Amino acid sequence: MKIGVLAFQGGVIEHIKQIEALGHEAVKVKKESDLEGIEGIILPGGESTTMSKLLNITGMMEPLRKKIEEGLPTWGTCAGMILLAKDIDGEDKSHLGVMNIKVKRNAFGTQIDSFTTRKAINKVSSEPIDLVFIRAPYVESCGEKVQVLCEIDGRIVAVKENNIIATSFHPELTKDLTFLKYFLEIVK
Ligand code: GLN
Repeated sequence: MKIGVLAFQGGVIEHIKQIEALGHEAVKVKKESDLEGIEGIILPGGESTTMSKLLNITGMMEPLRKKIEEGLPTWGTCAGMILLAKDIDGEDKSHLGVMNIKVKRNAFGTQIDSFTTRKAINKVSSEPIDLVFIRAPYVESCGEKVQVLCEIDGRIVAVKENNIIATSFHPELTKDLTFLKYFLEIVK
């Protein structure tokens, strides 16, 4: 399969390496034409405000939004989750705004408060996986059709709505490919 990774900044290479490790083709998406022919897209962690500015500058915001709304399988990690959210706590504008979730940015504290934990995500696999949080957002509330995949200390950190999944944590920063396999199943 051919999987795009939004490649302006952030954890791009880590996602690409894992896609290739599973024998699939990874495409760096930096302009509208890169969206052609991809079967899924990953919006990596990084800085959501910067990525949003670059989506606007490159004229990709609208075409990408349209593709996702038309059903392109999409996975946002951390900043990617913020790009997808319809609502961002304390901010009056969203970015792609395609997922019925309200997120709180930097919700677990500052950079120093980044942490790793382990948990089994039932819908993904029965084995526990490492969950890495870096200035992570969490989901404050979500629409009826949003499926909650994982909560940590009562905070929602992984969600799915139709063709879109979003995680507060970074599976691409671990050796575990379980979550990526789960996303690729959705793409398939
Ligand atoms: N705090 C960042 C943001 O708001 C997200 C952090 C991350 O992606 N690791 O964009």
